[in-house]
Formats: sequence, structure tokens, C-alpha cells
Amino acid sequence: MAEYKNIMEALVEEEFERAQHTLNCCTCEACRNDIIAYALNQLPPKYVATRKGEVYSKTYILRNQHYADIMAALAKGANLVRENPRH
Ligand SMILES: [Zn+2]
Repeated sequence: MAEYKNIMEALVEEEFERAQHTLNCCTCEACRNDIIAYALNQLPPKYVATRKGEVYSKTYILRNQHYADIMAALAKGANLVRENPRH
């Protein structure tokens, strides 16, 4: 069975959870989703085939490669949401 997913989604969600208290922004569910969606639109999708055992190492490498971009995109998203919250 072929399976694949955009692991950038998981990386952005993970970094959001880790960094949300530093974003200086509302993190209710609506704002969280807006920030994450904004960040994902700024970042390249990274599709991987989810074969057992492979995913973790690729995730680790991609996080290191894209960490700065992910944090910058989250900070930008938080700025926009702070100025214009939809909740
Ligand atoms: Zn909110």
C-alpha cells in the first residue's frame, strides 16, 4: 500500500507547539490554525513515502535543513494574526 504525506505539516505543527509561548500571540485553536496555515503556504511542501523506519530519519534531516525557515514563517504568521485575529 503506497502512502505519502507532506511532512512539512508535521514539522510546522511540532515547531509551533514548541515555540508558541515565544510567538507573543494568541494561540487559541483558530489562531493556531491560521498561523500554521500561513507558515505552510510560505514553505515548500516535502512529500515523503511513509515506509516504516524511514520517516523518522528524513523528518530529522528536514527539520534541521528547514528549521530557520519554519521559525521565520511561524513568526510572520503570528505577526499577521496578532494584528488581525479572526477569533
Ligand atoms: Zn485566538
